[in-house]
Amino acid sequence: MGNVKGLKCKECKREFPKEPIHVCEFCFGPLEVDYNYEAIGKQVTRKSIQDGPPSMWRYKEFMPIDEPNVVGHHVGFTPLVHAKNLGKALGLNKLYIKNDSVNHPTFSFKDRVVAVAVSKAIEFGFDTISCASTGNLANSVAAHSAEAGLKSCIFIPDGLEAGKILGTLIYGTQLIAVNGSYDDVNRLCSEIAAHHKWAFVNINIRPYYGDGSKSYGYEIAEQLGWRVPDNVIVPVAGSSLITKIWKAFHEFEMLGLLDGKVQTKVFAAQATGCSPVTTAIKKGTDVITPVKPNTIAKSIAIGNPADGYYGVKTTKESGGYGEDVSDEEVVEAMKLLAETEGIFTETAGGVTVGVTKKLVQQGRIKPDETTVICVTGNGLKTVEALNGQYSDLTVIEPKLNSFEEIYSNSVTA
Ligand SMILES: *Cc1c(COP(=O)(O)O)cnc(C)c1O
Ligand SMILES: [Zn+2]
Repeated sequence: MGNVKGLKCKECKREFPKEPIHVCEFCFGPLEVDYNYEAIGKQVTRKSIQDGPPSMWRYKEFMPIDEPNVVGHHVGFTPLVHAKNLGKALGLNKLYIKNDSVNHPTFSFKDRVVAVAVSKAIEFGFDTISCASTGNLANSVAAHSAEAGLKSCIFIPDGLEAGKILGTLIYGTQLIAVNGSYDDVNRLCSEIAAHHKWAFVNINIRPYYGDGSKSYGYEIAEQLGWRVPDNVIVPVAGSSLITKIWKAFHEFEMLGLLDGKVQTKVFAAQATGCSPVTTAIKKGTDVITPVKPNTIAKSIAIGNPADGYYGVKTTKESGGYGEDVSDEEVVEAMKLLAETEGIFTETAGGVTVGVTKKLVQQGRIKPDETTVICVTGNGLKTVEALNGQYSDLTVIEPKLNSFEEIYSNSVTA
């Protein structure tokens, strides 16, 4: 703990103190956490990590908090599933699913960022936690605020899935739906932040928040036996996760924790109905043109991504690419993952599986390379996406012949 020197502008490299700030006042670049890697290197070995708790806190030395975390003790260390059946279906011999659909406590990778953000907010002395959310962040902020005994006030675009709404309200928060897209909600929150001294996890706490998702990258490397994969396919909304997986791999490399070098190709995955980042990648530009989202993949529907520029940069630097899939392909991929691996992911996982299929067909991912697909959320929260996919259940009488009739019908059909 306590390995943070301060904040640093990602662009002009000016240094700032550890405060709830996120923009450089000189060049308007984003601020990021500046770690003392020399100190971390003295504290951490493979063994010290392996001896740590089965949670993201086995990497606590790499986390941007100064005190032990207050909430989220059981977040992270989710399964890395060797997906042999899906691999066979896609033509990949070494395919893995990093499965955050079962992350504790709210079933998405957002628990990683929120565990850090709320712990940091407590260090800063805030009594209210807030955020703009596409759904999963709302669930996690409400849950961790409840755990911390803090107030929360959460903003979402109108029209989110019922599971995401109920999965926020249950924790006793103030949930506010805004008539507009996520980007409208986010803009409103920036205005509210100027009037209320709250911890907005993805605004004024953003530099700290983002680094929680580095743990997703560390886990992939550790679970592959201290190696990084040849390819990783990442769902992209604001572009935080994709840049942090890349950062995590390089931190492990720098500290000598990996076998081999980082030669991972990072692939960005979006839904065609909201694909500002993959569109820029395909056009070969780093200029993001904002879009108005229109897709069932609501959790990653950000039309004007805060870190979009860095998402493009990461894929380019790594030698990766970006692809997007239609809503029909998203649903097809959700079903494929469930039927082959027994994993029910939400729409964002349909996006990464669907995009992987495309990348294999394009020859960008090769059969014998090690490939990790990021599955970041749970399907039970987005059941609306499957409306009309299955016909109504047939109800039978509690009699053997009733069953035999329908059973033989279905097998002969
Ligand atoms: C938020 C979210 C993402 C992507 O988040 P970034 O803003 O790009 O870090 C991916 N998948 C799910 C399920 C999410 O909720
Ligand atoms: Zn700057």
